[in-house]
Amino acid sequence: MQLLPRSPTSSHIFTRFSPSSFARYPNMSSGSNSLMWFRKGLRIHDNEALEYAANNSNHVYPVFVIDPHFMKPDPNAFSPGSNLAGLNRIRFLLESLVDLDSNLKKFGSRLLVLHGKPSDVVIRCTKEWDIKRLCFEYDTDPYYQALDRKIKNYALESGIEIFSPVSHTLFNPSEIIEKNGGKPPLSYQSFLKLAGEPDWSISSLCTTLSVIPPIGDLKNCEVSEVPTVKQLGYEDIQEEDPPLFKGGESEALRRLQESTNNKEWVAKFEKPKGDPSAFIKPSTTMLSPYLKFGCLSSRYFYHCIKEIQKEVKNHTSPPVSLIGQLLWRDFFYTVGFGTPNFDRMRGNRICKQIPWNDDDELLAAWRDARTGFPWIDAIMVQLRKWGWIHHLARHSVACFLTRGDLFVHWEKGRDVFERLLIDSDWAINNGNWLWLSCSSFFYQYNRIYSPISFGKKYDPAGAYIRHFLPVLKDMPKEYIYEPWKAPLSIQQKAKCIIGKDYPKPVICHDDASKECKRKLAAAYELNKKMNGVVSDEDMKRLRRKLVEDQGEGTDSRRLKQKLI
Ligand code: FAD
Repeated sequence: MQLLPRSPTSSHIFTRFSPSSFARYPNMSSGSNSLMWFRKGLRIHDNEALEYAANNSNHVYPVFVIDPHFMKPDPNAFSPGSNLAGLNRIRFLLESLVDLDSNLKKFGSRLLVLHGKPSDVVIRCTKEWDIKRLCFEYDTDPYYQALDRKIKNYALESGIEIFSPVSHTLFNPSEIIEKNGGKPPLSYQSFLKLAGEPDWSISSLCTTLSVIPPIGDLKNCEVSEVPTVKQLGYEDIQEEDPPLFKGGESEALRRLQESTNNKEWVAKFEKPKGDPSAFIKPSTTMLSPYLKFGCLSSRYFYHCIKEIQKEVKNHTSPPVSLIGQLLWRDFFYTVGFGTPNFDRMRGNRICKQIPWNDDDELLAAWRDARTGFPWIDAIMVQLRKWGWIHHLARHSVACFLTRGDLFVHWEKGRDVFERLLIDSDWAINNGNWLWLSCSSFFYQYNRIYSPISFGKKYDPAGAYIRHFLPVLKDMPKEYIYEPWKAPLSIQQKAKCIIGKDYPKPVICHDDASKECKRKLAAAYELNKKMNGVVSDEDMKRLRRKLVEDQGEGTDSRRLKQKLI
C-alpha cells in the first residue's frame, strides 16, 4: 500500500529493515502471534515496531488502550477535558485513532480499542491471545518508563519477546548520553556535536508496508471501536469555533506535503524571523501536534527537508533552520531523559532555585486571559481555542508569567500549557519552561519580552488582538496594546470601558519587571554562592531578605491595587 503522498523524497523511499533489530533477538521464532501496542507512533509509515510485528507473525493484534484516568471528563477542571488533558487534545487523539484504524483496514486489519489500566489490559491480552511477541515504540517519558518496566518484567517472566525500538526521535537519547560520558549535553551546540548525522539517514526509511497479517481469535477480550468524544461523556460541550487541527496520519502527511511544497520556504526557514501574530497563515509548519502523537515520523520529516536542501542552493542551518527545529526537539528529549526531576525545580540539578510567588490570583488572571495586557490575553485566548500558539507567543506569555512580570512559578505555567496544548509534550514543554523562566539553559534575565512593544513590532494595528479579543475590536490603533491609556471618551466610542468591559492591567510592567530582575539577581547570587545546592532554609532567608530590601511601591500586590 502506498500511504504517502507523492513527495520530493519518493525516489529515496525503500524498505529498510534494521539488521540490529534481528541481532538483538537471535531466538526469535517467526509465525506466532504478535501484539502491536500503539501509544504514540500513531502511524503506519516509518513504524519499526509495526514493521517488525508484520514481518514475523501469523497474526498481529494492533491495540490501543484507552485509560479512563486520562480521558474521563473532569467537571472541576478549569477548561473542558479530563483532569489532565484539554478537550482539544482528547479529540485530536480520537481522530488520530480513527485514522489509524482506517489505514489498518486497508491492510485487512483494524485497530482493537480496549479500555482500562494499560498494564493490566496489555497483560490480560497477551494471555488471552497467546502472544509471543510484544512490539511497541520506546518512550522516554517518565510515565512510560515506569509502565514499560512493569510490562518488560512481566514479559521476561512469561517468555514473551519484547521489541521496543526508538523511533519517536531522530536520535536515541541514551546513546547521546552515553557518548557524553553518562550525562546529557546541556547546550544545543554540544548536543549537535555529539549527535552528528543520524545513522538511519544514510540508509533509508520504511515508509510503506506490503502486508499486515490478520488478527487472530479475540476470545474473551472486550474490544470496541474508537469512541467519540460524546461517548466519553463530553456531550454537553458547546464550542464556538470548529477545531483547527484534524488528528491522524493522513492529515499529517497532507500537511507535510503542503508545508514542503514551497521548497524555497523550507530551505530559507529562519525561526526567529517568524511572526507570532500571524494567525490567518501562521509562519511555521504547525506540525507539532502530529509529531507529538507520532502521526508524523520526525525522521521522515527530517528526510524530506534534507532532500529539499539538496535541491535548493542556499539553505539556513541549525539552530534557526527547519532541521534545527527538529534538533531542538531531540535536544530536549535527551536532556529530559538524562535529568532526574527534570519537570520540577526542587531536586533538579540543572534548575536554578528561585523564590517564585505562589499567587493564585495572578496565575488565574494569566490563565483566563484577564491580565489587562491585550497581547498576553489574546495569546492565552488563542491557546485555549486552538490548542496551539506560535513559538514566540509561547515566549511572550511564559516570560510574562515568570521572570518578566508576575514572578509566578514556571511549574504552574507548565501545567496550564500541558493541559491546553494539543502538542503538549513532556520533554519539550518542561525544557522550554525551564528556558523561558531563566531557570536553566538561558540565563540573561535582563532580557525581558515587553507585553506591549514586542507584539506591536509585528502587528502595529493589532489585527491579532482584535481577532482573539473582539471586545477590543474598535479600540483605536494608538491604544490597542495599552487600552488603559485611552481617554474615557475614546473607550466609550470603542464600546470598551477599561475596568468594566476589559480588565485594567494586573501590574505595572515597568515596575514589575524591575522587581523581577532584582529578585532574579539575588537568587542567582545565592545559587552561585551555594554552588547550586540551595536548601529550604536558604530559600526562606532569601525570601525574607527580598521583602526587607523591597523599596516602597515595588510590591506587585500594591501595584495591582494602585492600578485597579
Ligand atoms: P516549527 O517551527 O514548524 O518546527 C517544527 C517542529 O520542530 C515542531 O513541530 C516541533 O516538534 C519542533 N520544535 C520547534 N521548536 C521547538 C523548540 N523550541 N523546542 C523543541 N522542539 C521544537 N513544543 C511542543 O511540541 N510541545 C510542547 O509542549 C511545547 N511547549 C513549549 C512551551 C514553551 C514555554 C515554549 C516557549 C515552547 C514550547 N514548545 C513546545 C516549542 C515550540 O514552541 C513548538 O514546538 C512550536 O511552536 C510548534 O509549532 P510548529 O510545529 O509550527 O513548529
